[in-house]
Amino acid sequence: MLDLYSQHKVNPLDTPIEFLKGVGPMRAELLRTELGIRFYGDLLLYFPFRHIDRSQFYAISEIDANAAMVQVKGRFIRIDAIGKQRATRMVGAFQDEQGAIMEVAWFRSLTWIKQSIKLNTDYVLFGKPGLFNGKLQMTHPEIELLENFNKPLKGGLEGVYNTTEKLKARKIDSRVIRKLMETLLPLVIKSIPETLPGYIRKRQKLQPKQWSLKEIHFPENMESLAQAKHSLKFEELFYVQMRLMSIKAKRNKEIPGQVLSAVGEHFNNFYTNHLPFELTNAQKRVIKEIRKDMGTGKQLNRLLQGDVGSGKTVVALLCALIAIDNGFQAAIMAPTEILATQHYETIFDLLSEMHINVALLTGSSKTAYRKKLHANLENGQIHILIGTHALIEDKVKFNNLGFVVIDEQHRFGVAQRSKLWRKNAIPPHILVMTATPIPRTLAMTVYGDLDVSVIDELPPGRKPIKTVHRRDNHRLQVFGFMKDEIKKGRQVYVVYPLIEESETLDYKDLMDGYESITRAFSNESYQVSIVHGKMKPEAKDFEMKRFAEGKCQIMVATTVIEVGVNVPNASVMVIESSERFGLSQLHQLRGRVGRGADQSYCILMTGNKLSNEGRKRIQTMCETNDGFRIAEVDLKLRGPGDLMGTQQSGIMEFHIADIVKDAELLQQARIEAEYIYSNDAELAHEQLLIVRHQLTSLMKKRPNWGRIS
Ligand code: ADP
Ligand code: MG
Repeated sequence: MLDLYSQHKVNPLDTPIEFLKGVGPMRAELLRTELGIRFYGDLLLYFPFRHIDRSQFYAISEIDANAAMVQVKGRFIRIDAIGKQRATRMVGAFQDEQGAIMEVAWFRSLTWIKQSIKLNTDYVLFGKPGLFNGKLQMTHPEIELLENFNKPLKGGLEGVYNTTEKLKARKIDSRVIRKLMETLLPLVIKSIPETLPGYIRKRQKLQPKQWSLKEIHFPENMESLAQAKHSLKFEELFYVQMRLMSIKAKRNKEIPGQVLSAVGEHFNNFYTNHLPFELTNAQKRVIKEIRKDMGTGKQLNRLLQGDVGSGKTVVALLCALIAIDNGFQAAIMAPTEILATQHYETIFDLLSEMHINVALLTGSSKTAYRKKLHANLENGQIHILIGTHALIEDKVKFNNLGFVVIDEQHRFGVAQRSKLWRKNAIPPHILVMTATPIPRTLAMTVYGDLDVSVIDELPPGRKPIKTVHRRDNHRLQVFGFMKDEIKKGRQVYVVYPLIEESETLDYKDLMDGYESITRAFSNESYQVSIVHGKMKPEAKDFEMKRFAEGKCQIMVATTVIEVGVNVPNASVMVIESSERFGLSQLHQLRGRVGRGADQSYCILMTGNKLSNEGRKRIQTMCETNDGFRIAEVDLKLRGPGDLMGTQQSGIMEFHIADIVKDAELLQQARIEAEYIYSNDAELAHEQLLIVRHQLTSLMKKRPNWGRIS
């Protein structure tokens, strides 16, 4: 009887939000559509994005334009609309008690600003100061009437909740949400289960979940708030790690791998007789790691990281030869046609004296060729297939695919990768290679279910590329430098940005640039070629070839040359409007030079105006050639979601943790999770019962999560 009853008992957290006192159907609808809050449990997890410390005010005269967020008290003595139509903005003069004045500017919600902000009325502003035309300015600060700001409160700290314009228009502001939270907390707090075992909480100095939830909404003081945040962040990071590891454990258990244990004739023959250089120690180590996985009967799922030019291709090839030695086929997949073709040519040349059949398949492969290729893949005559994503189409069937390399992986979607698995009765081993290094924190989250190998050494004899920043008005000097290098027999790239939104303008820039270069280099001893995405593949190939063969000295291009292209004689990379490129793209582009024995140069051209972020990117490039360091800066500047592209941003939606700021905590969470999986992968021990429960319930909530690899 009692059991029956408990089955019907509803968890208070699952109560629809409209039943909360102060909500009702109208507000419930708004909370749902605007903030995604449907149930009591959702509201409870709607954390304040900051806390107000009412005791801290800055005088305007004390504000440093580089400071983080500051809180100021004062009045608007003037607000004007400036500019016309789309360029309109509102600018206010905000004066504090000492009479000092700061500019406040708005670019959006102008009507709302005009209607709701009153002159000569006391306000409290909160925002990030900055400089504009040498004057202190704050844009889009949070604004509150001093009168409201001073309303009675418990304690000195108060949570500020994000709301939307629509919610504010219906009088649901941070204050209202806080009131709702006050009503909610006593109703639900007792039903929150603890989610971390006592031993972890003790070791990591964490507070109980119920306490942390109460504190984050209504903190006692700064210290307890910090503890609550710390505990909640740890919990979140820990469960991300647990999920990744459970995916990995499940895969290892359920999916058998081909046993490719022999290292035979092909590998040895190539290694001894055809490899044109000695492998670096890092390459050797990484090949050993991969080989070991391939031979054990578990499916290899490994991420191979290495900086631009560290020699990932030959590692991939040697592993492919192991597959062939064991009677299997191998495939190498690249994100662009140019790159696939280049891989094909490199590998074809390297293997030219061996009896191994290599084939290329891209989007532009002709029908008749494809037909023959399909047949030869199915009968096993082709040993290595190199291609773009044309390679994963269902029509492409292998005889026995044993090993797949995915190069420059971040451009491949999740679904595309999983298709590869189905290419063989027993899924092939999969090696994912990154174009540029990714920061440790990302490797632990986005790729957390993969094993990782790192090539942390460049082939010997490479000279670090010298990188400099030049303004547009120094272009003539840059041209002079290019001429000097060309005189020495070197070749030069000049790259222009091509960003989709401003495609027409960008093409114009490219063509203008091409023209001015052909004018400056009009002497007949110079040949200039141009490559961009709108050209026919044949024309592109023709131009690329001319450059690769040294028949022309200057290659003007858009970023189509970003990945892969390998012309060792090219020693100068000029990047136009370089402030518009992302860091990893700049690093990739720079990696196109410095491939031969000569000193190479990268010249980053910009206009005179640079945003702070743009300046930081340029500065980082000038300071270092180390792709791992660059990746760290990139992650800090752009944030994780953006860095990985949209396809992966879903799993990067952390609720409270931030993998950049909380890198140390992430590391700790990973250690705890690893400890569990290496000692008790079934989570059988009694003290892990709550972990098992929590994991199951999380998996139920986001079932797709497991598909990330
Ligand atoms: P990436 O890791 O950027 O894909 P590649 O595989 O294209 O780098 O290698 C870059 C260049 O370095 C190629 O020309 C390749 O032949 C060469 N290379 C690779 N390994 C070595 C090595 N151990 N010694 C000398 N040159 C090497
Ligand atoms: Mg490469």
